[in-house]
Amino acid sequence: MNNDLHARAEQLIARERVEGISEAERDWLTQHLRECGGCTQAAQQTSEAIRALRAINISLPRGLAERTRFRLQMRAQEMREQEPRRGLLWTICGVSWALGIASAPYVWQGVEWIGQRTGAPRLLLQFGFGLWWAIPALFAAAIVVLENLRQANERDGSGGARR
Ligand SMILES: [Zn+2]
Repeated sequence: MNNDLHARAEQLIARERVEGISEAERDWLTQHLRECGGCTQAAQQTSEAIRALRAINISLPRGLAERTRFRLQMRAQEMREQEPRRGLLWTICGVSWALGIASAPYVWQGVEWIGQRTGAPRLLLQFGFGLWWAIPALFAAAIVVLENLRQANERDGSGGARR
């Protein structure tokens, strides 16, 4: 049999599943499948593949729900483990702030000394001094922002998976 006929049959088998084919095309395909074992097999394989895909679609949410619950349990455990670590971060932050305050007079002397040596404008020196003070605050703010972002991501992630 002509190869073009098999190619046309193959195309019709695929199109029948996706966009549908005309009455005449279906008649032609039925006729061809009656005569051609190879294309009949191809048509059966297509049907089986589609059935398998549908079966996967049905079982997927079940597996997904299981995975999501597992992930949430992992996350809850992670949070419990992270609690002390986050406390440590805040402690470090507080200590560095206290040190910043305690060392401020010395830092200011140092900044003035640099100013005398380099002739840098006083405004720049004050800005540098302020920055020294701001670093722990920036550090703390960064932790809070990152934590909030992560929690927001977590919410989006679990919300999407639950669908
Ligand atoms: Zn054929």
